[in-house]
Amino acid sequence: MANSKYEYVKSYEFEDEVFLPNLIVVRIDGRDFRTFAEVHEFEKPNDEVALNLMNSCAVSVSEEFPDIVFSYGFSDEFSFVFKKTSKFHQRRASKVESIVVSFFTSVYVSKWREFFPSKELRYPPSFHSRVIACATIEVLQSYLLWRQSSCHTSNLHGTCLWELVKDGKTESEALELLKGASKEEKNSLLFEKFDIIYQKLDAIFRQGSCILKTEVMDVVKHNENGSPVERLRKKLRILHSKNIAGRSFWNEHASLRN
Ligand code: ATP
Ligand code: ATP
Ligand code: MG
Ligand code: MG
Ligand code: MG
Repeated sequence: MANSKYEYVKSYEFEDEVFLPNLIVVRIDGRDFRTFAEVHEFEKPNDEVALNLMNSCAVSVSEEFPDIVFSYGFSDEFSFVFKKTSKFHQRRASKVESIVVSFFTSVYVSKWREFFPSKELRYPPSFHSRVIACATIEVLQSYLLWRQSSCHTSNLHGTCLWELVKDGKTESEALELLKGASKEEKNSLLFEKFDIIYQKLDAIFRQGSCILKTEVMDVVKHNENGSPVERLRKKLRILHSKNIAGRSFWNEHASLRN
């Protein structure tokens, strides 16, 4: 009902533009995935197939929305970083995050069967989302450092917890044992009791996953005299890296600074 007398209500919409030069980051996270993982019998502490499904959904999101230049995720979460100058939906936080989270969720459901061909999806999963406005690249780097250290902490904890449970402890006994233990103590518990060198566990578990847009020259065809015709094409890469907030990572991936 455009131009009706009722349209004044539109002015009551929440104003939530993320102003320039803030960088827009959207983080999505599975709602009650503790239960979802139980019901769908995810392997503990890390179900690699479930992680690959999350990564694949994040790749689809990055493909769908060209303004997303970088994403990072682990467990049931993913953070999507928009390019500095993005004008996506007039930078309105509620529009941007709702589009990202609903697209991610529907891709998760559509891809379920491809990743878990013999596991039925028992109920519709949902994800929550939020927008983080990063005033500078340094703030963004701190944000990423924070998420990656959460990945590390929860993975170290989870690895210890489930090794203890496999060894015969109940979950609450294992939790009691781990209460207040430092990183070093957890590392030595794994090594001394279970012969596990934490640093040798798969990088996807310890470091999480990044999705980067890189530019590559692709041969698109050959012309009459047989010489190749190349075109610059954006390509998505999934990688695991030790310190995604570190200087070397950011120097190596120039596209992040655009
Ligand atoms: P909330 O709604 O607050 O996000 P949540 O139960 O999802 O609640 P999180 O802190 O997000 O809590 O933790 C996600 C939980 O999902 C993990 O603790 C773990 O139990 C489970 N989970 C997610 N991904 C995996 C995976 N790939 N393998 C095994 N478990 C997983
Ligand atoms: P935006 O992303 O801004 O919402 P939009 O294309 O969805 O863009 P809307 O104003 O929401 O624009 O209009 C929804 C459009 O979707 C309608 O104009 C119509 O073309 C189509 N549509 C939605 N529901 C139906 C339906 N039940 N039957 C036929 N067409 C529909
Ligand atoms: Mg969650
Ligand atoms: Mg989570
Ligand atoms: Mg619409």
